[in-house]
Amino acid sequence: MSQIDSSNALKIIPLGGLHEIGKNTCVFEYNDEIVLLDAGLAFPTDGMHGVNVVLPDMTYLRENRHKIRGMIVTHGHEDHIGGIAFHLKQFDIPVIYGPRLAMALLKDKLAEAGVSDRTKLHTVSPRQVVRISPSILVEYIRNTHSMADSFTVALHTPVGVVIHTGDFKIDHTPVDGELFDFQRLAEHGEKGVLCLISDSTNSEIPGFTPSERAVYPNLDRVFSQAKGRLLVTTFASSVHRVNMILDLAKKNGRVVSVVGRSMLNVIAHARNLGYIQCQDDLFVPLNMLNKVPDENVLILTTGSQGEPMAALTRIANSEHRMLVKHSQTAQSMNIPAENMVIINNGDVVALSPDSIRVAGKVPSGIELVDSSQSGMVNQRVLKERQQLAEDGIITVAAAIGWNGQWAAKPEVHLRGVATAIEKSKLEQQIVRTIESVVRDRWDDQKQPVTTGAEIDWIRLKDEIEASLRRMLRRELQNNPTVVFLLQPPAEPPAALAGRRQRSSAKVAS
Ligand SMILES: [Zn+2]
Repeated sequence: MSQIDSSNALKIIPLGGLHEIGKNTCVFEYNDEIVLLDAGLAFPTDGMHGVNVVLPDMTYLRENRHKIRGMIVTHGHEDHIGGIAFHLKQFDIPVIYGPRLAMALLKDKLAEAGVSDRTKLHTVSPRQVVRISPSILVEYIRNTHSMADSFTVALHTPVGVVIHTGDFKIDHTPVDGELFDFQRLAEHGEKGVLCLISDSTNSEIPGFTPSERAVYPNLDRVFSQAKGRLLVTTFASSVHRVNMILDLAKKNGRVVSVVGRSMLNVIAHARNLGYIQCQDDLFVPLNMLNKVPDENVLILTTGSQGEPMAALTRIANSEHRMLVKHSQTAQSMNIPAENMVIINNGDVVALSPDSIRVAGKVPSGIELVDSSQSGMVNQRVLKERQQLAEDGIITVAAAIGWNGQWAAKPEVHLRGVATAIEKSKLEQQIVRTIESVVRDRWDDQKQPVTTGAEIDWIRLKDEIEASLRRMLRRELQNNPTVVFLLQPPAEPPAALAGRRQRSSAKVAS
């Protein structure tokens, strides 16, 4: 299944990031060489209880791990580098090339995950060309984006040049002064590009996105008029914006206290690499703030929800069906429709010097990661968590003697269960349901029961559990998880000695 025959074609397989925000991951494959471009993550949606991270389905890469030669990173956003540490636990990526800021952030992530020794990180500069695999050279071309130090790449492959734009936001007056290298892109255009793979974000909105600098005058006005302490939140990865905030804090005579690990990390690396320039004495630790007058304080934070919010905002801004608009724009520029493909995650695009076509499909769903030892949350676990979260859980513990009477009063616990009737009435109904099943079972016995060994306790437990579920569904009109624990009787030694060998009762679920 995973070997798709298109010999001598370059295969392009996006495993994530299409028709969605997050988990950007693209595979380039030529014969037995696989080169990855970015490996991002997405954040869980509402129903994914306990899930920390969403990754693309990595089946194809696990099955073809022996082909992986290296990875190209375009920039340091979480949805482009956040998945790498998880992947390195499953397969080797011998070498990763990427921008300095992204590599600095990635280095921390790999160290934290304990996988630093599974790959080699190399930083690249604008217009640098590196051989990522025997047949593929990659050239880094500076672009502009909300993240500093971002690149478009040109892949020089045996079938021709493929340009992958990466994420970009054309900004003619970037905050860090690093301009989009249109000149180099134009040179490629002159020579001939076989295929352009382009970011479609916001392609349905006509016109230009204002420069990041456009935010500056408004922020300046707010900062200069603000009284008391100033609290500013922004996405840690919006390095340009963080830079402006720090600059304006200084201008307005405020010291800055940074709250949140991701913000501290990004600022530290960006300062190290020169993307943010400010003096050490601009910063004051949070616990020293009470020594500074309120009007001289700015608190800068993102919080752990910063990045998921980023994703939400972009989703709210209507990401979907953008790809169609983008292709219409291309057609309006005289690119024939048959030369374009709008594909889905998992589609295998076969590219040859004279054709482009979808040649197959590989698994392309999602993999869910939580903080447990194994880390992987499968569909069954997720479904159980959803049921627990939505309808709650009822546990019932009962001890029944061999005579079919209660050996101890049953215990009923409800957690997160919404009941229309009083809780005590529901508990009574639960007890009556159990009693009724037990009575029927004892009535069915051909001879009077004299020892517990004469009862099939496992079957009895199953019957009671099924009856409880039916009754609860009827009464509650929903579907709580029911855990029923049945304690069989301890028997006198005399009874045990003479007992038949039959299903003894280890009955607890
Ligand atoms: Zn990005």
